[in-house]
Amino acid sequence: MIDTPAFLDSQRPDVPNLVVPRGVTPFYLEGRPVRGRMVRLGALADLLLCRRENPDGALALGGQALALVAGLSTALKFQGSFSLQIKGDGPVSLLATDCTDTGDLRLYIRADSDTAETAAPALLGEGYFAFTVDQGPDTDRHQGIVAIEGQDLSEMAMHYFATSEQHDCWVRLFCAHTPEGWQAGALILERIAADGGIDGGESTAENDDAWETACVLADTLTEGEILDPVLDSGTLLHRLFGTMDVQIDRPRALAYGCRCSRAKLSGILDTFSGEDLDHMAIDGTIVMNCEFCNIDFRFARDEVGDRPDDTA
Ligand SMILES: [Zn+2]
Repeated sequence: MIDTPAFLDSQRPDVPNLVVPRGVTPFYLEGRPVRGRMVRLGALADLLLCRRENPDGALALGGQALALVAGLSTALKFQGSFSLQIKGDGPVSLLATDCTDTGDLRLYIRADSDTAETAAPALLGEGYFAFTVDQGPDTDRHQGIVAIEGQDLSEMAMHYFATSEQHDCWVRLFCAHTPEGWQAGALILERIAADGGIDGGESTAENDDAWETACVLADTLTEGEILDPVLDSGTLLHRLFGTMDVQIDRPRALAYGCRCSRAKLSGILDTFSGEDLDHMAIDGTIVMNCEFCNIDFRFARDEVGDRPDDTA
């Protein structure tokens, strides 16, 4: 079955439509074993975080998670999506976010509405942190899972890379409420071979030194700088890594991109029995909510499943 593209789906509820043209800026340090991505969500942060009511601590965590998957999905060399799911026993019991190879982002947070916690370990409690790379229905999904460990989401992500992946990664995530609304961003560095390969790079004194220097410079980035909507990413990267011959690659767009559609949801409804559908219908209408968008899709009972008047 081919889904109706969202833009042709005239019956689709009003799902937000926003593109941030230069959301992710990839870069590398010439002749050094370092490449990275700078992520700035711009107006998307506020749009994605405010789909439903959540306490500020949970939203700040959600914004950081969005910036993280946006940055990591840019490294994908195929069609698919990169998702992060954090499940714990704290007030934020579930945080799920993903980003496709084309930069479509979405987020769902399940949190206690009255929590006043703001620190990530207290919000998440004990649980796990899972990254999944999904390349479509006919391929194996690659999943890595580690225990939640670290003082903030940046440390949790680095703990994941240290235990699950083969190469060094440096991650710093930002999200705060500003006079312009919520803003979120990320700076991610990856250690690569000096010739551009991704096998981690030779551990020579010179390469170790370049990697450590890049991390020290990256660490000088402030929240005020990365969340400043006027400051351009290229300018910021030259300011940070100007002494290390930083080369900026083509920026990539990010967008509000949930894949919910009437076709997909009616496909789900079709798996229920006619009796179940009759129970779900209120005054002849079945309402399906997309948890990412927090938008209701309405189906007349006779649009889905076994029709009540089917005589076959
Ligand atoms: Zn949706």
